[in-house]
Amino acid sequence: MKVTFLGTGTSQGVPVIGCDCPVCSSLDFRDKRFRTAIHLDIDGKSIVIDTGPDFRQQMLREKISSLDAILYTHQHKDHTAGLDDIRPYNFSQKKDIPIYGTKEVLEQIKMEFSYIFQEVKYPGVPAVIPNEITKSPFVAEGISVIPIEVLHYRLPVLGFRFKDFTYITDASFISEKEMRKIKGTKVLVLNALQKEYHISHFTLEKAIEMVNIIKPERAFFTHISHKLGNHKEVEDSLPENIKLAFDGLKIHID
Ligand SMILES: [Zn+2]
Ligand SMILES: [Zn+2]
Ligand SMILES: [Zn+2]
Repeated sequence: MKVTFLGTGTSQGVPVIGCDCPVCSSLDFRDKRFRTAIHLDIDGKSIVIDTGPDFRQQMLREKISSLDAILYTHQHKDHTAGLDDIRPYNFSQKKDIPIYGTKEVLEQIKMEFSYIFQEVKYPGVPAVIPNEITKSPFVAEGISVIPIEVLHYRLPVLGFRFKDFTYITDASFISEKEMRKIKGTKVLVLNALQKEYHISHFTLEKAIEMVNIIKPERAFFTHISHKLGNHKEVEDSLPENIKLAFDGLKIHID
């Protein structure tokens, strides 16, 4: 399995429009973050988790020429806004793309992209096959997935586990019961927004605490704000087994 970080930034992206802080004006390419999403190359399938507003640029940058399925963590715009840009895959593959989300996520997508779901469609609109999921294990295009329900303030969000890899973003709380689904994972991705308290996201300190409880071999933090600090300085302060993810980072997992 190969994991590619398509984007590792929080909802506004980094740099933030109009901001001249040291992170937003940094020349380090790792301080430039598209909105959070990953791509999985797993058992011959090409899967993305979330299609944020930077989806098109992410797929172009990574030269991803096929797409088999989209899994949605939740309905926030920084995770869904790029759905219209799946059209090149519809055209080249000549098929509808299966999308997976909870009832609430699919309802929101149907409302925000109503033109995709009309009975009589305008020619060339995106073509999707909605698949409703819950927090129970499911199979997407032949790939086994264990969803993990986390809370994002009060909003339920799904993390996803594939074999020994677990991806969780936009969490501020994980219950004991859902923690059991994560145990034993070798590679963990977790959101770490900033150092100061935030109502709907783990802080850096809290994310480190979660890694120490879950004890994966390696952990990567994502959904990063410009307020967290410069990539290099923050990463240098972290324990050996924890890294900050950056856009374009690829990890291989057996
Ligand atoms: Zn988000
Ligand atoms: Zn800034
Ligand atoms: Zn969110």
